[in-house]
Amino acid sequence: NFRCRSAFKLLEIDDKFRLLQPGCSVVDCGAAPGAWSQVAVQRVNSAGTAEEDAALPHGTVVGIDLLNIPPLDGAHFLSSHDVTDPVTHTKLLELLPSGRAHVILSDMAPNASGFREMDHEKLITMCLSLIDLAEKILQPGGSLVCKYWDGILAHKLQKKLSSVFSSVQTLKPNASRKDSAERYFLARMYRKTVKGS
Ligand code: SAM
Repeated sequence: NFRCRSAFKLLEIDDKFRLLQPGCSVVDCGAAPGAWSQVAVQRVNSAGTAEEDAALPHGTVVGIDLLNIPPLDGAHFLSSHDVTDPVTHTKLLELLPSGRAHVILSDMAPNASGFREMDHEKLITMCLSLIDLAEKILQPGGSLVCKYWDGILAHKLQKKLSSVFSSVQTLKPNASRKDSAERYFLARMYRKTVKGS
């Protein structure tokens, strides 16, 4: 039982692209109420409950949200934390094995104002901050999945992602309402930027 239907979007993305492997370290941004983290815990085997094979490696899941996230076996939650806050980044470095994540997930969304353009810009700014987070914690070769609302600045975000990831594509999961502007960027093969280049 998932805490929220949003789980089906991540399941769909992961069934296709297999980002969440047993043993992986995952950071789930905007994790409340915790459905994506439930999917991540199962797939990376962070609770050690994989039935097929007791020898599968155990991964790590760290979820972050401004709101409270009810506890979940196999996940470590930073409730009342802002993903864009450097204090949160420092805590992540301590919680992740070797301070590294293989995958950053973001289903973050600001409180919608109802003004489409303004909400779009806010969410793009939040997504751009994930690139700073990646620079601190994402393993070379790692992946990022981030939700955005389509609009005029999506192209700018895509360009920024393409400057540090070898592969960037737009996804619209079937589980995402057809009439919504919701999209996801899947960015793979992270390569750190060389400062000053
Ligand atoms: N993926 C979640 C799940 O499956 O349960 C649902 C996420 S919900 C659509 C978006 C979440 O992003 C909200 O809980 C909101 O509090 C959170 N959020 C928005 N801005 C944030 C920020 N700056 N830092 C952390 N969380 C944030």
